[in-house]
Amino acid sequence: MTVKSLSDIPQQYRDTPIGLFLEYHNLDRPFDTYTKARLLIGMCMDSRKHLRVPDNYAFIIRSGGANLRYSEFKVSYAIGVGGVEAIALIGHTGCGMKHLIDRRDQFINGLVENAGWTQQRAEEHFNQFAPMFEIGDEVEFILGEADRLRRRYPKIPVAPMIYRIEDNMVYPIREDL
Ligand SMILES: [Zn+2]
Repeated sequence: MTVKSLSDIPQQYRDTPIGLFLEYHNLDRPFDTYTKARLLIGMCMDSRKHLRVPDNYAFIIRSGGANLRYSEFKVSYAIGVGGVEAIALIGHTGCGMKHLIDRRDQFINGLVENAGWTQQRAEEHFNQFAPMFEIGDEVEFILGEADRLRRRYPKIPVAPMIYRIEDNMVYPIREDL
């Protein structure tokens, strides 16, 4: 769903760190001063995007496809020690972790040429890890991850969102459909 004005911010996110994040990133809200982080953002490592957030506002974990399954200790740290109040999980359009199998040859050849790996080692590496990092459909994946994180950290609200590379805006995913 599009957020281009304050009234577009979904009701459940208003007056929360998630709503404020949408204000900062989508609506250019002037930065406030923070001495303590309020939000944990999980997003893809993709080089095409960056977020507009004030200093000290958010912990950010970047990982292929915004997949936090293998970053759980870091999530726990941000909550337990960092004291964040909510999680924004942000997938994006054009994610390379979607249809990874299509990039198999490129991945293997790239490791051989750029990193000096043997063909066999590169193939084994791909075969072992690609299934763990494949996300399938980005919206479905983010919704599934949000669901998993809510069960894991029941007191922490989790907001599933999509970053559109085309316009650099963040779109909350509707879950009430
Ligand atoms: Zn990505």
